[in-house]
Amino acid sequence: MELGRFVVDTHVHPQRHAVNFEAQDDDADYTNLAMLMHTAVPADEATDDDKVVVFDNSDRLVYDMDRYGVDMCVLLPAFGMTNGINEMIMEDHPDRFVACAQAQQTKKDALRGEEEWSIDKACEEIDYWLEKDGFRGIGEFLPYDPNQEEPMTWRERKPQLRKVFEVADKHDVPIRWHPGAAAGYSGGGLRKADKFPEYQDPMYAADIIPEFPDVDLIFEHGGVQGHWRYNVERALIVAAQFNNVYLEVGLWWEDLLKRAFNDPNVGPEQLIFGTDWGASMVANANHNSSDTSIDFPPLRWEQYEKRGLPAHQPDYWGTTLREMQKYALFNNLPQDELNLVMGGNFCDLYDVDPPHSRLFPEYLDR
Ligand SMILES: [Zn+2]
Repeated sequence: MELGRFVVDTHVHPQRHAVNFEAQDDDADYTNLAMLMHTAVPADEATDDDKVVVFDNSDRLVYDMDRYGVDMCVLLPAFGMTNGINEMIMEDHPDRFVACAQAQQTKKDALRGEEEWSIDKACEEIDYWLEKDGFRGIGEFLPYDPNQEEPMTWRERKPQLRKVFEVADKHDVPIRWHPGAAAGYSGGGLRKADKFPEYQDPMYAADIIPEFPDVDLIFEHGGVQGHWRYNVERALIVAAQFNNVYLEVGLWWEDLLKRAFNDPNVGPEQLIFGTDWGASMVANANHNSSDTSIDFPPLRWEQYEKRGLPAHQPDYWGTTLREMQKYALFNNLPQDELNLVMGGNFCDLYDVDPPHSRLFPEYLDR
């Protein structure tokens, strides 16, 4: 049985990086790969000297969609992935994908030392892509200076983010906010992500959301990456405060799902199914059934450094759709509520027509 009438994964990476090991000085590990990936060159433009290339991986994506009954996906660029490759993938499958835009070229130019990064240049690039068909949001992540050396304060960061919100407002598209970052990328020292306030604390969002009442905000992974214990609760506090704030719950486990579904100020109207399909993370199951709140989560997507880099395509949907199913089964979740999370809320957020009208709950005003 499919998990819903219309099933959409709102967090998908249809591009994959490949490392040219012969062009490396060091052995590939999480530490140097994370940086190298940001400057990846599209495979069809690459030469033998390019250390990392990025390629269209949509054949595997479409295969998995057909296997697991996923009707549509939101395509996201991250690291060295390009908006251009996502555009080509959408042209090949116009009914199955929409995409978010990110300032990928501005970031690459800055990392290669070719042009200094600025928020205005980043916003211009995002604005350019949002003019095009199929681009309906901003992300993954909020644009930042990849050469930033010192941690930024919220006072410094907020004027930058305000400009990004203005672009979202102009195009009437949702904005994505990514609290925390995968632990495998840490590699010693202060992680890049930890330099920016939005990664440190989802609560900063509550300081800028009221300025943009028409912009919907999505917490990527619902705050579950990195310092999840802290970030998930704080993301939920923001969602409880603002009806235009949504959480991606695709990587959550049953207990966490319960926390959000049971909160009358959040509930299924503000949750969406987004995983991280295409990312090189694997799931880890903790088979202990400890009740303590300090145990490692029962099902956790993370980069496990000791296992090494995954060479296979981790199976996101087999695991995550089953976990949603498990929550629905054990908690008697009405299908109408699950349908909102699996696709209904996506249609509103990303301005996509579902296959038919009246598929999702709506009630007449009395
Ligand atoms: Zn992602």
